[in-house]
Amino acid sequence: MSQQGIYLSPMAQRRAGFVEACGPLFGRLQLADSADTAAALMAEAAPGLLVIDLERFEPGIDLDALGALLARRAGAPTLLLCPFANARWLPLLNAFGPAAYAITPIEPERLQASVRRCLESSSSWAPAADVDSLRALLALRARVQAALDERDEEPTLAERLCQALVEWPGVLHAAMFRLKADGDLQLDAEQGRGPAAGLRLGTLLQRSERLLQVPLRHAFPGLLAAATGEPALLDTPEQAGEPALADALRAHGVAQALGIPVPADGPGAPRGALSLLLDDAGPLAPEVFATLRDCAGLAALGLRLIDMDLETEQLLARLTYVSTTDALTGVANRRHGEELLEREVRRARRYRTPLALLSFDIDRFKAINDSFGHPVGDVALRTVADCVRGLLRSSDVLVRSGGEEFHVIAPHTSAIDGLKMAEKIRHAVEQAAIPGCDHVTVSLGVAQLGEQESADSLTQRVDAAMARAKRAGRNCVELAMQ
Ligand code: GH3
Ligand code: MG
Ligand code: MG
Repeated sequence: MSQQGIYLSPMAQRRAGFVEACGPLFGRLQLADSADTAAALMAEAAPGLLVIDLERFEPGIDLDALGALLARRAGAPTLLLCPFANARWLPLLNAFGPAAYAITPIEPERLQASVRRCLESSSSWAPAADVDSLRALLALRARVQAALDERDEEPTLAERLCQALVEWPGVLHAAMFRLKADGDLQLDAEQGRGPAAGLRLGTLLQRSERLLQVPLRHAFPGLLAAATGEPALLDTPEQAGEPALADALRAHGVAQALGIPVPADGPGAPRGALSLLLDDAGPLAPEVFATLRDCAGLAALGLRLIDMDLETEQLLARLTYVSTTDALTGVANRRHGEELLEREVRRARRYRTPLALLSFDIDRFKAINDSFGHPVGDVALRTVADCVRGLLRSSDVLVRSGGEEFHVIAPHTSAIDGLKMAEKIRHAVEQAAIPGCDHVTVSLGVAQLGEQESADSLTQRVDAAMARAKRAGRNCVELAMQ
């Protein structure tokens, strides 16, 4: 049966090429250079086949006009010729009606075969999912959703997603590329099976970091999708014009390669892309495009959730720091110090180990404020705290318990050792240079926890000892009485 056809392309060269390759397949072939011309021709007589060559059309400008043509076809055969780097057209136009597609650039024989298929088959000219493939898609959706659970566990989200994708029938290799905060696109995870079990994209692309700069970026759909934010599809590996890449893919049984962008939270570059290598070159049904887009959306959500988990952790750490730390000196604040002392008292009782508490207070500090000003007083406080902190073991805790008064909680420390420690502190503070006011001294008390003693009682005794040191003339150490 000789059929009428319409070929639509804004490019004169492409129109001539199509006439040459496929003209003889039609009884009559009309050419249109715009959607309007095509619509006018279609109004005269509905063609047996409408071919839309999408090269040079832009989704942002032409989608409505081309979609209207597809809608007018009302299910009659339509063939889209879609550039491999702009596979976004396919899911967009699918929304207007069924269409067969062929990815360009395409050789004349394959183009003829696609046209013939549309002209000859009255029912199955457009790709459609059968029962088995719909089941497989549902299973894929469930696996990808499950991959988002327990996302902070090993394996990583990217590894789970690749595992979920590679179990989808026809997939030989799944990978996820991710754009890091510094703009570096990396291979996050990959998983191969069957003939592609040993396929490593790092080898194929010659590295796994800074992938936006690799020479093959324009030819590998996963990278293209991450770079442009548009789906990319090669239904023959040779299409991208990189014979070595095509050979390597073929050697692993790959017949078709797909890149789906993982969208960003807002405007700007995508967060990365999913890469799928398939063992079959057959056209993908609209449901496949929709599911893969949803998978990429879930991947984006998963990455966002991981970011949020991290931010929550950081906020909690910040909150803990702020609520336990004295802002001026960076040592434990009074409330936190009290909690830590209670804990150490319990521990010392349970394990019958000695615990010492030291108390010290800067001598005549009011005079420093009065003579040099409050800011210099602050510097003195910080300098004394730093100086003492530098003398302590990692198990000791320095606490600012009041204005210019500090405590040191010293686990595994007897009264004798506490006295040595206090003397060391006294001496070090006396020697320390204080910017703006020369030197300061401290008076110290030392107490060892009694057998049945509470933290409160220990604190009272050590403070009383420190008060005695003040009375004894300052810049000295007193041992607390039992
Ligand atoms: P003593 O030798 O008896 O300890 O005399 P003192 O002057 O150190 O004791 P007093 O308790 O009379 O004065 C403590 C001073 O510490 C008074 C207060 O203004 C000052 N102070 C407390 N907290 C801060 C602070 O955060 N920064 C500064 N610059 N001064 C503080
Ligand atoms: Mg003082
Ligand atoms: Mg004081």
